Amino acid sequence: MTMRLRHIFHFFLLGMFVGLSLSGLIYWVITSIWFGNHLTGNLGRTDVASVTPWLAPIVWEGTFDSTVIDSIYKQQNITVATTVFALGKYTRFLRDFLESAEEHYFVGFRVHYYLFTDQPDEVPNVKLGQERYLTVKKLPSMNRWQDISMSRMEILEKLIKNELASEADYIFCLDVDTKFIGRWSVESLGRLVGVIHPWFFNAPRFIFTYERRPESQAYIPAGEGDYYFTGAAFGGSLKDVHHLTKTCQEQMNIDIANSIEAIWHEESHLNKYFLYNKPSKLLSPEYLWRDISMSSGYVKIIRFSHVAKNNAEVRPNL
Ligand code: UDP
Ligand code: MN
Repeated sequence: MTMRLRHIFHFFLLGMFVGLSLSGLIYWVITSIWFGNHLTGNLGRTDVASVTPWLAPIVWEGTFDSTVIDSIYKQQNITVATTVFALGKYTRFLRDFLESAEEHYFVGFRVHYYLFTDQPDEVPNVKLGQERYLTVKKLPSMNRWQDISMSRMEILEKLIKNELASEADYIFCLDVDTKFIGRWSVESLGRLVGVIHPWFFNAPRFIFTYERRPESQAYIPAGEGDYYFTGAAFGGSLKDVHHLTKTCQEQMNIDIANSIEAIWHEESHLNKYFLYNKPSKLLSPEYLWRDISMSSGYVKIIRFSHVAKNNAEVRPNL
């Protein structure tokens, strides 16, 4: 081989080496950016369960990418109906509830609040954002807080059946003695959505305060039940929440006819319903915390919380 040819050959080998190394580097950079930021990233939690035994996700901070999930729902032009009841002295919670919702709840999406009260004059004038609507509906007042709490199922059933069909895609039904503190948005949407009760998220099943008397329709035998869900927040598609409210209402009517009231009222019936109609998505206690001032290692962000209230002072009965 002549010197000249040998030079060309070495030059060729060097070129191959540099070229391959460069394409390897480019491949590595592209894949690490792509997978790193868009797919696996650091998503997922090892300290808490983020999936149920029936493969429904349990939503915790760190299990979803808000940018990705927002962009999915942005294309869908959805409306989220949101119901809240404020009877008697509970109207005092409305301002904080509504103002904090405007700041944190489905920001940038269409929300229609349906507010049920016995005193429409007490509804505060809260400035709502674009594509945010409020409808106030008057109800007669009631003497027992348990009746107020339970009657929500029947009223919601009628609202969904009679008014919401063409008005909304999803619905959430929330307690009013609450406040939003962090993001609650489209990551919470699903066909049937339950929120794990903040006092029971890491408790063993035998601690759950299900109804234990077989005479009640809410009865759950020992050894059954998956989670203990709060009655203060639930939601899903209109169809599924309609079926939920209708079923709970019917079960409560059977209990009334049998002169029995479930230990935790409609919450007991909701838990019974979720036992046989598994939620398709569960929200962690980030989505209904105990009290704003309490913290927990698992709950890294408090999104929505009960506020401290003096039951003896705000309720019409004990
Ligand atoms: N509620 C109401 N007026 C009352 C009692 C209850 O408007 O006098 C409604 C209100 O929406 C409240 C819900 O029923 O958030 C459930 O009652 P409560 O919050 O007292 O139950 P808890 O969360 O303490 O179990
Ligand atoms: Mn409450």
